[in-house]
Amino acid sequence: MSWLRNLSKFSSTIKPSQRPNKTDPFFLLPSLTFLSKFSSNPIKEKPSVKPDDYSGLEATKAHEKPRVVVLGSGWAGCRLMKGLDPEIYDIVCVSPRNHMVFTPLLASTCVGTLEFRSVAEPIGRIQPAISREPGSYFFLANCTSIDAHKHMVHCETVTDGEQTIKPWKFSISYDKLVIALGSHPATFGIQGVNEHAIFLREVHHAQEIRRKLLLNLMLSDVPGIPEEEKKRLLHCVVVGGGPTGVEFSGELSDFIMKDVHQRYTHVKDYIRVTLIEANEILSSFDDRLRLYATNQLTKSGVRLVRGIVKDVKAQKIILNDGTEVPYGLLVWSTGVGPSPIIQSLDLPKAPGGRIGVDEWLRVPSVKDVFSIGDCSGFVESTGRPTLPALAQVAERQGKYLANMLNKIGKAGAGHANTAKEIELGDPFVYKHLGSMATIGRYKALVDLRQSKEAKGVAMAGFLSFFIWRSAYITRVISWRNRFYVFINWITTLVFGRDISRL
Ligand SMILES: Cc1cc2nc3c(=O)[nH]c(=O)nc-3n(C[C@H](O)[C@H](O)[C@H](O)COP(=O)(O)OP(=O)(O)OC[C@H]3O[C@@H](n4cnc5c(N)ncnc54)[C@H](O)[C@@H]3O)c2cc1C
Repeated sequence: MSWLRNLSKFSSTIKPSQRPNKTDPFFLLPSLTFLSKFSSNPIKEKPSVKPDDYSGLEATKAHEKPRVVVLGSGWAGCRLMKGLDPEIYDIVCVSPRNHMVFTPLLASTCVGTLEFRSVAEPIGRIQPAISREPGSYFFLANCTSIDAHKHMVHCETVTDGEQTIKPWKFSISYDKLVIALGSHPATFGIQGVNEHAIFLREVHHAQEIRRKLLLNLMLSDVPGIPEEEKKRLLHCVVVGGGPTGVEFSGELSDFIMKDVHQRYTHVKDYIRVTLIEANEILSSFDDRLRLYATNQLTKSGVRLVRGIVKDVKAQKIILNDGTEVPYGLLVWSTGVGPSPIIQSLDLPKAPGGRIGVDEWLRVPSVKDVFSIGDCSGFVESTGRPTLPALAQVAERQGKYLANMLNKIGKAGAGHANTAKEIELGDPFVYKHLGSMATIGRYKALVDLRQSKEAKGVAMAGFLSFFIWRSAYITRVISWRNRFYVFINWITTLVFGRDISRL
């Protein structure tokens, strides 16, 4: 009967005055429309509702478990959910994807070194209470706004395009809210980027890159394709020389040298990779490591171009100096900034536009709201710098906040507006553990210094590659995915990459 209990919870926040007459044929429509997300028989029409009248999860009562609502299922949100005690809290997660992406290995999936499922971890495995506990849920939806004064978030379901049901709006009352909405790719307002380039942030981006790459390889093999067109189709351009752009270029050159040379012999001499960067590549790494990476990438056939992209057209990009660069595949990786939803929220902001937090990751001036990961930064009054947009920051903030919320809950202050008297413990402190990046051909960079000026281990080569792989396989969240990754690496080594275009 738990579905019936859930259904009554969903429809219960509609105010009695706004409830339709029971004889009205549309009486059950809001709840049914929501449920139709799970059915194959969509209900097309629904009565119009005002934002405050959406059905949803109503506020918890004093005798019920308090509810933590987590927005986002990335590094920060998932690490937080993993650490939250389901005996203390009901956990509700809202995100447009039902899994966490292990981003450091995402570039490897674009060329088939790893399979997509190896880097995606379902949320139900990270926090089993979400699928088990009657008051805990995962909602495949986007948060559209937050009403911090009413302790409520407004959401809209995600649909798979126009062929499916219309998005359904609903609200969730929270006792504690954790905003972990991540960031947005920076395009610097350059025209055509959103339309023609592919970002590398989600599994569907990696799938798009793989399909496009294989499509271009096959198209260029068709008889009668002019030479110029063949060259364009097989020109892969990567914009942005940070770790993601470099790792992707390295993976691509490996793929070309090993797999394309063996299996696409007709076109192997046409395929090229160009990496465009406005400044130095890998600017956060030690100078020696940067030089090493530059030499290795050049040896692998990656052309490094210093330039600023001015305009992106469907088949070519135009640089600041007027140079035109035709491309068949364009991958954009020039850093991140606050997403439109973060910009729209009426909450204090940190320098740079992220959500402002204090030393305990609380959003000042509103109660029971916290923010972690790429979407948050310290408010100016803390005197602390904005932390880098890194998984290691997000993950540690998630862990810290889970412990703090458990402590608050154990002290009986888990419900909304009750945390005033609680001793929160030490503030969050971030210690950088270093950076790593692969550059292809079984080589990687490992820079274990806390900052560019600090002393410490900075090395490159095969041993670094071994360290990189060992470090990441131990960081993969579940044993299941660890196993997948290991088997994928062995399979690629022995049989080469999978080049079927599925
Ligand atoms: C290819 C790649 C490689 C990387 N490699 C490394 C590395 O090697 N080391 C490292 O430290 N860092 C790395 N990073 C950076 C790291 O992935 C990020 O810093 C980290 O993901 C930030 O975690 P987060 O939880 O803040 O955001 P994310 O992981 O981006 O998660 C944000 C979540 O919010 C959800 N969301 C977005 N909008 C909404 C909405 N309106 N409503 C509800 N949910 C929403 C998203 O679907 C997502 O689930 C890499 C990033 C990329 C893209």
